[in-house]
Amino acid sequence: MTDRRTDLARNLARVEQRIADACAAAGRDRREVTLIVVTKTYPASDVMIISELGVRHVAENRDQDAAPKAAACVDLPLAWHFVGQLQTNKVRSVIRYADAVHSVDRLKLVDALSAAVLKSDRADRELGCLVQVALDAEAGAQGSRGGIAPDAVEGIAEAIAVAPALRLDGVMTVAPLAGPYAGQPRAAFDRLAEISSLLRATHPTANMVSAGMSADLEEAVAAGATHVRVGSAVLGVRPGLG
Ligand SMILES: *Cc1c(COP(=O)(O)O)cnc(C)c1O
Repeated sequence: MTDRRTDLARNLARVEQRIADACAAAGRDRREVTLIVVTKTYPASDVMIISELGVRHVAENRDQDAAPKAAACVDLPLAWHFVGQLQTNKVRSVIRYADAVHSVDRLKLVDALSAAVLKSDRADRELGCLVQVALDAEAGAQGSRGGIAPDAVEGIAEAIAVAPALRLDGVMTVAPLAGPYAGQPRAAFDRLAEISSLLRATHPTANMVSAGMSADLEEAVAAGATHVRVGSAVLGVRPGLG
């Protein structure tokens, strides 16, 4: 049996090389891209190992799993990103450990996040928020994997920007499985980059572009992503859902 640390170190080195190669191919500086390791379904012991291996950003998509894991890892120098669909009844828990929420896709969620941060003991520390864009949604509608259609991004972004205790950080997407962008991650991420530059025209500091996972991080880096969210390529293929 190989040691978990050895496996994770090898996987991380491979992902790091892929990011470096993708940056080189795109003529980008490696420092423009932040690796976020998606630790969902994997135990706190794995989070501790990757932290020792130098990872500084981790992401989770379910509060039930994330809250105890983050509590177990509270002393590690990690930023926690929440990337899953978020129900308003989970907001109070998520803002206890999350530094950023990538999946903000409705006004009701903006209000709930803002109110929860204000009422919490982190009221002096803004919560980073990204608008999740659904590239498979019709105008005005939600996407099947969360997110909001591109025409609604500016409205949600403005609500975040004016909400107390929230900071508008940028945009996020998941390459769609359906619609015109299905199977075309590069085109999807180019579209996200366009939406990002429109947003930055009115909100210049909202410069995070969160895109790309294990299967398509190269396409995301080529399209200008600043943050890639990589799970299985580091931790292994997840059994079942997740
Ligand atoms: C699981 C997940 C990822 C990582 O996916 P992999 O294919 O395992 O790299 C990225 N983003 C979101 C929103 C996820 O839920």
